[in-house]
Amino acid sequence: MAKDGSVNELLLFLLSKKGIYVSGEELSEKFGVSRTAIWKQINRLRELGYEIDSVPRVGYCLKKSPDLLLPEEIVQNGPFEFLASKIYHYTSIGSTNDEAKKLAQMGAPHGTLVIAEEQTGGRGRLGRKWVSPPGQGIWLSIILRPSLEPSEAPRITMACAVAAAKAIRQEVGVNCLIKWPNDLLIDGKKVAGILTEMSADMDKIHYVVTGIGMNVNNAEFPPDIEKTATSLKLASGEEVERLKILTQFLSQFEEIYRSLEGGKFEAILGEWRQLSCNLGKRVRIIGRNFELEGTALDVDGDGALLIKTDEGQVERVLSGDVSLRE
Ligand code: ADP
Repeated sequence: MAKDGSVNELLLFLLSKKGIYVSGEELSEKFGVSRTAIWKQINRLRELGYEIDSVPRVGYCLKKSPDLLLPEEIVQNGPFEFLASKIYHYTSIGSTNDEAKKLAQMGAPHGTLVIAEEQTGGRGRLGRKWVSPPGQGIWLSIILRPSLEPSEAPRITMACAVAAAKAIRQEVGVNCLIKWPNDLLIDGKKVAGILTEMSADMDKIHYVVTGIGMNVNNAEFPPDIEKTATSLKLASGEEVERLKILTQFLSQFEEIYRSLEGGKFEAILGEWRQLSCNLGKRVRIIGRNFELEGTALDVDGDGALLIKTDEGQVERVLSGDVSLRE
């Protein structure tokens, strides 16, 4: 809510006292501002959709939060180790990845989150459009400053995919699978996509921005993706609380990121394999200047897919579009 990525302490305090009346006097003493200033801030929160009751001589009571992914709501659902150090929240933005890259260039710390209620220019790989309507999904980017080799950056996409799939499985109870390299599927339809971008020298990563777009409560999609996209709501038949999924994802991501930095990539790879919908299946891959068909054998430490072709050769594919053949 605050422009510099820090949290609004008054809202944080009211959230910690949800359902309890706190006097204006107590609030003005606690925050060292006048009661009028408190009253003004309360009204600003009401404008955002917070239901705050006020009773003369008794005080204010936060009754209900709006369905917004505000930093204070996220922090309240913590604790997080490094992910919530700074959280930038936007009602509408072009692309959270673009904003995160700008912030990273200006020195934003490891773990900074950029969240938008709506993206007007959400992107997938190769600049493809990512549909991100207001309030219906989680459109988020994370700034990371990992101690990995540049060639190992795809590991972050893999870690992010595992964390998101686990969060979805745990909170919604649906069979969410990972489609190499960067999608999450439910019943063969795309529920989320991940876009990892980095700034690096030959041998050193300056920063990585990992973005995830997750369809949560979308009830419908534009005609061109109607048959290939789904949301958690469509898959489960129920409205899903975005904040719950988001905070579950963040804690899963922190845990898995710790393993990644701790040199335990094999463990992540093991989880990735278990959640993959590609391995052991026949796939066709269309890359920028090649086309390949065969059986997907495994993924290696650089995130490359290993394909056994019909001629019996094993090919290593770093990027491309996969379609499942069976
Ligand atoms: P892929 O991994 O399939 O190549 P990208 O990462 O390039 O996908 O993501 C962009 C593509 O995803 C778009 O071209 C479109 O087909 C599809 N798409 C766009 N928005 C959504 C969405 N909200 N949910 C599911 N699929 C989408």
